[in-house]
Amino acid sequence: MRSLVDALPQFVWIARPDGSISYNNQRLIDYLARKVEQMEGAGWLEAVHPDDRERVWEAWQTAQIEQTYEIEHRLRHGSGAYRWMLVRGEPQRDSQGTILYWVGTCTDIEKQKQVEQQLEESKQNLWVLTEMVPQLIWTARADGQTDYCNQRFCDYTGATAEQLSGYGWRQFVHPDDVAHMTIIRGQAFSTGSPYEVEYRLRENKTGRYRWFLVRAMPIRDEAGQLIKWFGTCTDIEEQKHIEDELRQSQERVNALMNSNVIGISVIEAGRMVDANETLLRMTGYTREDLQAGRLNVMQMTAPEYRERTRQAHQELHARRSLTPYEKEYICQDGSRLPVLVGGILLQRPSQAIGFVLDNSARKELEQRKDAFISMASHELRNPLTALKLQATLLRRQMDRQGIQTSLPALASMEHQIDIITRLVDDLLDVSKMQAGKLEYVWETIDLDALLSEIVETMRQTRPDRCILLGGAIGAPLTGDRDRLGQVFTNLLSNAIKYSTAAEPIEVELSASPECATIRVRDHGLGIPREQRDRIFERFYRVVDARRRTIAGLGMGLYIVAEIVKSHGGSITVDSCVGQGSTFTVTLPRCRPAEQG
Ligand code: ADP
Repeated sequence: MRSLVDALPQFVWIARPDGSISYNNQRLIDYLARKVEQMEGAGWLEAVHPDDRERVWEAWQTAQIEQTYEIEHRLRHGSGAYRWMLVRGEPQRDSQGTILYWVGTCTDIEKQKQVEQQLEESKQNLWVLTEMVPQLIWTARADGQTDYCNQRFCDYTGATAEQLSGYGWRQFVHPDDVAHMTIIRGQAFSTGSPYEVEYRLRENKTGRYRWFLVRAMPIRDEAGQLIKWFGTCTDIEEQKHIEDELRQSQERVNALMNSNVIGISVIEAGRMVDANETLLRMTGYTREDLQAGRLNVMQMTAPEYRERTRQAHQELHARRSLTPYEKEYICQDGSRLPVLVGGILLQRPSQAIGFVLDNSARKELEQRKDAFISMASHELRNPLTALKLQATLLRRQMDRQGIQTSLPALASMEHQIDIITRLVDDLLDVSKMQAGKLEYVWETIDLDALLSEIVETMRQTRPDRCILLGGAIGAPLTGDRDRLGQVFTNLLSNAIKYSTAAEPIEVELSASPECATIRVRDHGLGIPREQRDRIFERFYRVVDARRRTIAGLGMGLYIVAEIVKSHGGSITVDSCVGQGSTFTVTLPRCRPAEQG
């Protein structure tokens, strides 16, 4: 009997009615690497895993009452490692029913336990996956009826898994999308191939529809039989919005590019890589020229504007945008096109968008205006000279005849003639400067003397004003005496015009070996910062409430700046609104090289 029991592939044990072990078969002894004596009493509990011990002891106690024993627990191997066992015990009784002993077996179920555990783990993982992914997940039977929806699907639609099952989920699909979806699904189900379809599903929380991308995969068994569909619904509402916005912005860009108002180009490293039809039409180039890389911004720019263009490119890279500036393009046929050019730098630093407006109409108008000014000032000059002459003759006659009564009227006439003459002279100067035809008479000038003369004349004409003259230049300078006289007279007139009688005007002279510096300072209105550069432009005037009543045509400072420039000098202004302005003229001692 013992030999038979020892040969069994199972562990066999026999226990006394009190629970103490009386026999272990050889296999069990080998497994435990302990003798039966060591298992005496409750010694066997020692070999049970500590975590299972309490549960096993309780089961053994219960077994005494229920007369049967069955439990799974870990049992220690001789090596110290534990393995899961299914332990069973049956009491053996005598004819009176008294338990004589317990016979039991331990079956090694370690493998089975491991498989169970793995299964549990993978079930757990799958559950976590299906519940944690941001998608709505479903499975359907081979006939297309949904048999599982994850919690997210239920939460999103506000329906239970039962309500969604079968075709229940369809009630949440946007009515406009049902037909398309049905076609796609129908095709996939009939061919058994994976499908993708986009449709809107109603969200319970907001009552609104959101776009989803639905993907489904057929699952087949080993025989290739379709057994299930596995599907996901991914929320693509945001993407749809972005796509929409992108499309709209693309439409706007296209509309802009196709407009026939403005020429648009895309420039990369100085080369035009794209341009709209308007720009091509304006410049006479073809799309083939463009594609062949024949449109180079610098080469298309008329030579005298290339330096300005270089500056513009620097500005573009520094500020990412370009203040529009005027220049001329050389068209494909060699003609010139006046243009107004602006631009912005794109995120990709090497690409810029250029905006080009045909400026020829404006330029032509400007030319006509210049021609008119030139003609009008010439035409006015002759009758004015005659008028002045007549007034001088009249004065002499009246003097001779001793007529006193009409003298004030004559003086007033002469004064008005002088004002008009100055205006017309200024206009003439401006148009000559524009045409580059103003001539200079170069001579050696004593600036100290010239300035004291001008200041003295000013003091006489405006005895109400205090004009202070300080410092000295001390050495002669080459220049045009009358023109430089015009510069300082203009600056002093402005200083008087734009300040009040209570405020003195200061003229300061200083010199270095190379140049002479003349400062004209007033304590009047001052000039707003943003307009300081512009006051030297032709016909530019600062217009504000306090200046509205002060007459002028905006020519004075333009003439001043042009004369100073022709002398190789510079003029700057420093000003504080309400506190006054200082104009600083710097003139080189020698005549500028290009003059001579
Ligand atoms: P205008 O005929 O208007 O005086 P200018 O060319 O001499 O023309 O001056 C241009 C503008 O500069 C003027 O409109 C004026 O507002 C401003 N300006 C010139 N000089 C002064 C100054 N000394 N103080 C304040 N503003 C001045």
